[in-house]
Amino acid sequence: MSRITAARGGELRCKGWRQEALLRMLENVLENGENQKELIVYASLGKAARNWPSYRAIVDTLKNLEEDETLVIQSGKPIGIFRTHRQAPLVVMANCNLVGRWATSENFYELQDKGLIIWGGLTAAAWQYIGSQGVIQGTYEIFQSIARLHFGGSLQGRFILTAGLGGMGGSQPLAGTMAGAAILCVEVAEERIDKRISAGYLQRKTASLDEALAWIEEAKGSGEALSVGLLGNAADVYPELLASGVLPDIVTDQTSAHDLLYGYIPSGYTPAAAAAARKTDPAGLQEAAGTSIAAEVGAMLEFKERGAVVFDNGNNIRSQAVKYGIANAFDIDIFTEAFLRPLFARAIGPFRWIALSGDPQDIRTIDEYILREFSDNEIVSNWIKLANIHVPVEGLPARIGWFGHRDRSRLALAVNAMVREGKLSGPVAFSRDHLDAAAMAHPNIMTERMKDGSDAIADWPLLNAMLNCSSMADLVAIHSGGGGYAGYMTSAGVTIVADGKEESDLRLRTALDNDTGLGVLRYADAGYEESLDEVERKGIARIDTRRHEEIVAD
Ligand code: NAD
Repeated sequence: MSRITAARGGELRCKGWRQEALLRMLENVLENGENQKELIVYASLGKAARNWPSYRAIVDTLKNLEEDETLVIQSGKPIGIFRTHRQAPLVVMANCNLVGRWATSENFYELQDKGLIIWGGLTAAAWQYIGSQGVIQGTYEIFQSIARLHFGGSLQGRFILTAGLGGMGGSQPLAGTMAGAAILCVEVAEERIDKRISAGYLQRKTASLDEALAWIEEAKGSGEALSVGLLGNAADVYPELLASGVLPDIVTDQTSAHDLLYGYIPSGYTPAAAAAARKTDPAGLQEAAGTSIAAEVGAMLEFKERGAVVFDNGNNIRSQAVKYGIANAFDIDIFTEAFLRPLFARAIGPFRWIALSGDPQDIRTIDEYILREFSDNEIVSNWIKLANIHVPVEGLPARIGWFGHRDRSRLALAVNAMVREGKLSGPVAFSRDHLDAAAMAHPNIMTERMKDGSDAIADWPLLNAMLNCSSMADLVAIHSGGGGYAGYMTSAGVTIVADGKEESDLRLRTALDNDTGLGVLRYADAGYEESLDEVERKGIARIDTRRHEEIVAD
């Protein structure tokens, strides 16, 4: 079977651009994914479709789907086509949702092996993954926030230690150098290191810790930004660095620690040995992975004790460490609460757009528009200037930009007009990560220590998905966690296509504004000042039940 890549150019295979857009996005997640043969996109097991027959059936259906029909997908498998109406979503999907008490990794693996369910990642099964770029601005904003909070505004001459150069973790070296730091990334699989070097995300590689440290020291001394991939196991390297007295300025990890069976490779195992043990001794493999994580997190805690800024970058490593005896693993901060919550409270988050023509010039034209029209938006202007220089094209040209309420729709409407006027060479799809204000409940990542204690309430992403359907989005997805994330999270994804038609203005405005509007209200409901301010400033129709308390008391 030939390798799948996303179609480019102006030729339609579907009955309209909205359907063609979704088909290209599905192809694009596979083009950018980590293991196409297994349909695995990222996050160790995050898949684009249930299996190859399902993939073929989805492609076939999208090619024949009418604009007034909706395709229903359950865990990556197409189930049926329903007559709806022209403003209804073309695709709705629910991936990996297990009933509460049954949402365990054991049940997930069993159902996965029976071919009944998949872990869709956040953006894999929802066809929204755009390569490592998808989280790069998030990682960059974390580093910027740390620079402001701890290092006088700059990471020049600072040393970041991290691990994992997979689908998402692969963004770390580039985000680190964009922030001006010297960054050491420990990765156990050499081909992942090579993939990031060839994609332009990573600069150097070595299998020698001494050589890596010498390069890092030199870069720190000269203030040069540098990224180094070290072939090794984080469970060995972190304690070794600690023992030798090396103290990085910032320490984190983005291995697939959430999954002990398919993700984290234990000390003493190669990826191939772990794959073999998965079949012959799964319990032993999981035990070894848990013990290794405990060693790594133990070292992270000691780095923190010695003065490093240490944080969890969204891979459940602390929960795993607790299970394996590190009782104080949660002394390590989660990145959302520590660095990004004030942005999410205003519904500023990982918005993204994809040039369906495949022409990188379309992204550059949109960049120019943003720099002209959003010059007062510091976060976005700074990012677009940097991204334009540093972020290479992966798959269909795409850009991530942390826009907030109404700014997303303002950009999308302008882009829709550019498509209509022929200023871009094809339509553009708008989407976002599921790690967005209204879209994710994950008490150990997104919603840890919410002000009102509402961490585990999954109503918000469910409401988000329903509202996105009512708001005329093109694709709406509800995901829950699989593998090591089973029982940990629920999220919602959304995609809307700017095909240049005037009727799409209404869809873009309604879907994008309601998506972020609910995000602001989610945080306002939890009592965040930034959100209450945003409600006032943007005139969001919030219902404040406190006003009625006095009446009820009377
Ligand atoms: P991936 O499976 O594509 O890559 C994980 C990488 O870690 C692989 O290259 C693997 O070889 C390497 N690895 C595993 N064990 C190792 C060890 N002991 N030492 C060194 N390297 C090791 O996963 P991904 O898509 O890069 O995601 C990584 C983690 O980040 C996942 O848990 C994912 O859920 C999480 N994530 C967080 C965010 C966020 O917003 N912060 C976003 C996306 C993903």
